[in-house]
Amino acid sequence: VTMRVAVVGAGVSGLTAIKCCLDEGLEVTCFERSQDIGGVWRYTENIEDGRPSLYTSVVSNTSKEMSAFSDFPYPEDFPVFLPHARLLEYLRRYAERFALRQRIQLETTVLSVRKRPDFATTGQWDVVTEAGGKQTSHVFDAVMVCSGNFWEPSLPLHAFPGIEKFQGKYFHSRQYKHLDVFRGKRVLVVGMGNSGVDIAVEASRVAAKVTVSTGQGAWVISRVFDHGYPWDMVYNTRFMSLLRNNLPGPLARGLISHRVNQWFNHENYGLQPAKRYFSEPVLNDDLPSYIITGKITIKPGVKEFKENSVVFYSCPEEEPIDIVVFCTGYNVSFPFLEEADVKVENKHASLYKYVFPTHLQRPTLAVLGLIKTLGAIMPVTEMQARWVTRVFKGRRLMPVSLHPIFSNSFRFGLLFDEVLKTEWLVYLDELASFIGVKPNVLALLFSDPKLAFTIFFGPCTPYQFRLRGPGRWDGARQAIFTQWDRMLKPMRTRVTSGSSSVWPSLLTVFGFLLLVAAVLFGF
Ligand code: NAP
Repeated sequence: VTMRVAVVGAGVSGLTAIKCCLDEGLEVTCFERSQDIGGVWRYTENIEDGRPSLYTSVVSNTSKEMSAFSDFPYPEDFPVFLPHARLLEYLRRYAERFALRQRIQLETTVLSVRKRPDFATTGQWDVVTEAGGKQTSHVFDAVMVCSGNFWEPSLPLHAFPGIEKFQGKYFHSRQYKHLDVFRGKRVLVVGMGNSGVDIAVEASRVAAKVTVSTGQGAWVISRVFDHGYPWDMVYNTRFMSLLRNNLPGPLARGLISHRVNQWFNHENYGLQPAKRYFSEPVLNDDLPSYIITGKITIKPGVKEFKENSVVFYSCPEEEPIDIVVFCTGYNVSFPFLEEADVKVENKHASLYKYVFPTHLQRPTLAVLGLIKTLGAIMPVTEMQARWVTRVFKGRRLMPVSLHPIFSNSFRFGLLFDEVLKTEWLVYLDELASFIGVKPNVLALLFSDPKLAFTIFFGPCTPYQFRLRGPGRWDGARQAIFTQWDRMLKPMRTRVTSGSSSVWPSLLTVFGFLLLVAAVLFGF
């Protein structure tokens, strides 16, 4: 009998979950409560439809080659970092290409997911959905939770004494849509995550004054990295990852802080993070230039709100403020699950490899896309889906206690807040090795040395995980060799006559030889 799987949500994680179910021959139904696919990447003017916030200027933090699903590269002409509309277009093409739409029931809300009475033997779930005011009950053999983690705002007003006295306007970043609200106003942005910095930069185009309050500070990284290449194509290579993971901790951290301070000294700009080296960095090209030109001022955490002003810690003077945006992040919650199944407490959840609840008798419930690592989410959530669908399939073959993946490992209760300590590539490789799709660089060195070098020293693009094993894709090798072409194509729109000439490189070689000769003779 074909296994029936429910997927909750049709955003990035949900779409790839459906695709992986189809690849494994599972019968899949996806429930999406909004009117269309795309999750957080589908911008709408309407903030009340229960979906996450997006402001018009949102651009992906990771480059297109690193953010692709592993068997579906972005079109050549798409920009390197993707404005939300282009990312959504990519997701639509993905859905089209792999015929995912037919599996999705739109405007259908999942109300509850409950273990059936015979769960211990069948692993089955009762799923209740609601569409157009009508409730329906279903039975599924497994459930993939892909409902995302950016839709329930965290607005800890109790942490801001005096906010009830404050006479200006305030709201959470989730409610922010247009910069018009900031026109001519003195704006305070609370919280220096990616939302906070994006919104501060946007506000400073029209506001009278913009102040960002940050308790912890943050590392700010430019999307445009060494020599203008995308940061993640430089940072997330196997070679770099190997270096980072094998250097002693303090040395690795020291090198990272040295590296991020090369662009600008975080101390001088008031941004130096308090001891949390592993906090999520902020990706923003504008912030330092907005600080150095006085458009944005950085302040410590908020001590107290007054009627028309704010007092910051260790700052004697009050700052007059008209409007406050709380960019204080999101809570993760799964209102349709029983608390005992996936317990989220203080942003912590007990999930094996951030995916499987650690205490269920059967591995038939999986949570996708919760992990935050320093790299694109698409390959991660796709890898989770590839692994999960194979675990689902194998579940009838052996009881959980004998299952090779789960034996001994149920005791892990990982805190996803600390996930940044997990390297993006280490995590991907680990799941990849569970399903036998991790590239074998050493073996390739003999059979296909050019590919081995590209895989090891080049960016770890997701196509690497389609070279072998289940789900192998014939186009993977070619996609790896053309990754830089696709990245450069949308930018090299004015080809200069000298750009294809070999002279510059010959000159460099000649110059280098001269230098070596000079040094040798010098000695
Ligand atoms: P976030 O990363 O969770 O940051 C929230 C910030 O709020 C914290 O860094 C902290 O900043 C502050 N904060 C939290 N609790 C607080 C409290 N009790 N009191 C005072 N301050 C508090 O939230 P986000 O910026 O909304 O981002 C959410 C996720 O979406 C992130 O993973 C982010 O990368 C992602 N995102 C991506 C993009 C993009 O791809 N372009 C854009 C936006 C967001 P301080 O320590 O500075 O006070």
